[in-house]
Amino acid sequence: MHTGDQLCLTAADLTVRTLGPATVPSPLDGSLLDPRDSVHYVAETDRVLLDDTLDMAVRRGLPTRELPAFEPGGPRSRLFFDPPRTRVGVVTCGGLCPGLNNVIRGLVLEACGHYGVASVTGFRNGYRGLNRAGAADAVELTPAAVRGLNDQGGTVLGTSRGGQDPAEMVDTLVARGIDVLFVIGGDGTLRGGQDIADEATRRGLPIAVVGIPKTIDNDIPWIDASFGFQTAFGRAAESIRAAHTEARSTPNGVGLIKLMGRHSGFIAAYASLASEDVDVVLVPEVPLDLDGLLAHLDRVLDRQGHAVVVVAEGAGQELFAGQPQDRDASGNLRLGDVGALLRDRITAAARDGGRDISLRYVDPGYAIRSVPANPFDSVYCQRLAQAAVHAAMAGRTATVVGRWHGRFVHVPIALATASRNQVDPQGDLWLSVLEATGQPFTWSAY
Ligand code: ATP
Ligand code: MG
Repeated sequence: MHTGDQLCLTAADLTVRTLGPATVPSPLDGSLLDPRDSVHYVAETDRVLLDDTLDMAVRRGLPTRELPAFEPGGPRSRLFFDPPRTRVGVVTCGGLCPGLNNVIRGLVLEACGHYGVASVTGFRNGYRGLNRAGAADAVELTPAAVRGLNDQGGTVLGTSRGGQDPAEMVDTLVARGIDVLFVIGGDGTLRGGQDIADEATRRGLPIAVVGIPKTIDNDIPWIDASFGFQTAFGRAAESIRAAHTEARSTPNGVGLIKLMGRHSGFIAAYASLASEDVDVVLVPEVPLDLDGLLAHLDRVLDRQGHAVVVVAEGAGQELFAGQPQDRDASGNLRLGDVGALLRDRITAAARDGGRDISLRYVDPGYAIRSVPANPFDSVYCQRLAQAAVHAAMAGRTATVVGRWHGRFVHVPIALATASRNQVDPQGDLWLSVLEATGQPFTWSAY
């Protein structure tokens, strides 16, 4: 019998009592799940590990040498940088995301208040603020200067896209005596941060570059969820609720909501689950067959008289194959406007089928990006910022801070930018979406 001491736990203490052998086939097979594909089922042999740090497993006397493990975040007793002689820089790049100001504030309070660094400089308007001309606009960030930032969306430092020369940016850091640079931004920003760290290393300069990954799409890997994501899907759920109210109040009302998600449909999935009123969720990870979707919508309208469709901006890009593709200043491909395409095709199909629908198309993207962080994200941003300062002061570089399985960890930028976090169509999140919406596993089989 378990005594309450965690270290005394054995596998037997974790065994869950079952009533007997399970022999009845699940009804999910064939209705909700693709009968040819049982990947959604949990293997009865699988287990969730109890210990999530190597030290815990070692204390239990288990062999751990071969296990891959992240370095934990948090304060070290010995630092690389001497705080009163350390100058810190901060820059925000890429698109807006709730929580940017909270991270800036958290960095300043931790670096100044707890470590007592010599100064924190805010570089304006993204990496542009680190080139020779842009550096003239840099501002001093003091605890007084960041007071009240928690309540404001956007970024007080400004942001931009577009490439800058890493050598010129390192020149700026040297000219201003910056020892530690915090980069707050997405995959592009982190790659830029890696370039700055590499250039500094090439010159033999001990400059730390630590990233706080920003992605409203939640698409950076090795992070449970990115800051601002919860705020964003909460705000998106409000838009869905409003569109549902409109749709439900009109005969054959259709609400079509386009949400963020260039490559990953997490916001669409979570916002739809949060609002419970969604009939179809379309994400980039699941191929879209227009005929299958239109046939399904027809049945939904027959059955309940209205329908709500949520589409991530990166879904259905296969429908734009062969069309010319444009890039933004940072080199990111501009997406085909799947929301407008669906609006037109759903309207045309209804007309052809003799159904008089009333479709409302909502694109709340910019409203979602600019809201202040909610209390959960405010706390998360502050703690990420603290972890980032701890990492940098201990001399870590070319590193991002993240939270993995609930713990703050250090992730090499190279790893954080090597892949993308995506909704697994065969995973349990997507299964929850299928269960909540009643939409089919694949459109082509419809
Ligand atoms: P988001 O995708 O959320 O908008 P992001 O950080 O990916 O954020 P980008 O506009 O792609 O936004 O990039 C931000 C900055 O990082 C720009 O100044 C851009 O030039 C730089 N950058 C982008 N990609 C790279 C890269 N591969 N190497 C170096 N720098 C890059
Ligand atoms: Mg990006």
